[in-house]
Amino acid sequence: RKRRVAVVFGGRSSEHAVSCITAGSVLAAIDREQYEVVPIGIATDGRWVLESGDPERLRIRGRDQLPSVDGDRATIALAPEASSTGLVVTEPAQPPRTLGDVDVVFPLLHGPWGEDGTIQGMLEMAGVRYVGAGVLASAVSMDKAHMKVALAAAGLPVLPSVTVTAAEWQRDAAGCRARAAGLGYPQFVKPARGGSSLGISKVHDAAELDQAVEEAFRYDPKVLVETAAVDAREIECGVLQALDGTPETSVPAEIRISGDHEFYDFAAKYLPEEHTELDVPADLPDDVVTRLRELSVRAFEAVGCEGLARVDFFLLPGGDLVVNEINTMPGFTPTSMYPRMWAASGVDYPALVDRLIRLALARDTGLR
Ligand code: ATP
Ligand code: MG
Ligand code: MG
Ligand code: MG
Repeated sequence: RKRRVAVVFGGRSSEHAVSCITAGSVLAAIDREQYEVVPIGIATDGRWVLESGDPERLRIRGRDQLPSVDGDRATIALAPEASSTGLVVTEPAQPPRTLGDVDVVFPLLHGPWGEDGTIQGMLEMAGVRYVGAGVLASAVSMDKAHMKVALAAAGLPVLPSVTVTAAEWQRDAAGCRARAAGLGYPQFVKPARGGSSLGISKVHDAAELDQAVEEAFRYDPKVLVETAAVDAREIECGVLQALDGTPETSVPAEIRISGDHEFYDFAAKYLPEEHTELDVPADLPDDVVTRLRELSVRAFEAVGCEGLARVDFFLLPGGDLVVNEINTMPGFTPTSMYPRMWAASGVDYPALVDRLIRLALARDTGLR
């Protein structure tokens, strides 16, 4: 019998559309000789549906269908028959019943309610195997405040930051502003649990803080104010477990953004005309590559990751590396950094998808 793989995508987070594009690529790449695929969409309102899973539809096709930001959500116009959530529904799916019939779940979800341990917890409860990080690693990695605590405790270099909640801001904005000012300038303000750079602003002086914090609160009632890495190079590295569990690293890659963008923002990430250059592999001295790879494995292990992760770094002008963040379900289209770094390291896209499914099938569910 073929193994049944449920590909779960979409989701309630502001990265719904990004997840749909990721899913289109994975659905096209899964080996149908080996696996039977069950495409499950999660609508933006949280409904679970059996989706058409047509990879032809789940991709960026032209300028009129590029992702954009609307309110607090990235949107992408898909085919005309799609519902307002961007999913083509074939029938409603009851999560427990449907998932009980599958051998493995590929949760291709980015952001809260998917990359944060919530679906992972549901699958653990149901005794269903799944691709990627478990409950704790997902939750810790999703929350940038907790991620920094875990990384720093393992001796990894991170940038200083302060956390501000909406409740604290309401109670004592002046106190919050004073704590933030202690970090110096420039700063970055980010939703604690976000992705795709949504809700992130660069703050050049104290006068810009309030607007940046309010913007980040649209995505998360918990935000981080972080010291900026000035004149730093942005480098990423992929981690992928071997079938025996050993974490292996890809060649690192560099992001070079065009002069129109102050940082790697949403437009620089997803709009091809923005001319973001991705150097895969990055042009770096061997010793820096060695340090990047060591730090990536240590970051992966510090949060207890499984399967895959993309570790994002800054290379400071003085030569020091700091870990910006770890993503447990990085963007996964063939043009995304993670698959491109693996392709440049000898693992092509279909092989990557197959490795991840095999790793998940080998997982111990604790059920006998
Ligand atoms: P991802 O899509 O990688 O999950 P994210 O929404 O989790 O992104 P970050 O990776 O933390 O957000 O930040 C997005 C971008 O903002 C970075 O790639 C970088 O260009 C810029 N940035 C964030 N923090 C800093 C910082 N402290 N100093 C300089 N640039 C920063
Ligand atoms: Mg991230
Ligand atoms: Mg992310
Ligand atoms: Mg990042």
